[in-house]
Amino acid sequence: MIRLEFSWAVALYMILTAVAFIAYWFFFDRVKSLPNRSISDRNVWKCSICTLYYIDSRNSDISLCPRCGSYNKKQTNLPQKGVKS
Ligand SMILES: [Zn+2]
Repeated sequence: MIRLEFSWAVALYMILTAVAFIAYWFFFDRVKSLPNRSISDRNVWKCSICTLYYIDSRNSDISLCPRCGSYNKKQTNLPQKGVKS
């Protein structure tokens, strides 16, 4: 068993906690600089039959609704992010 004085244990705990916070901070600082990989608005489709909003990045003109199976043509007046209607 490792013998350790109480003051050294507290110091070791504080150092390890500080290192963990610094590593966490570095990680999230790098994450902010990563490219934006959010879903583009042109991949969002709205079904004209069941009004389901879904994502289909494979098709550009006509898409198949995953809920009701109907074919949908691309609409341009989909709601924008952050804009309430
Ligand atoms: Zn549908």
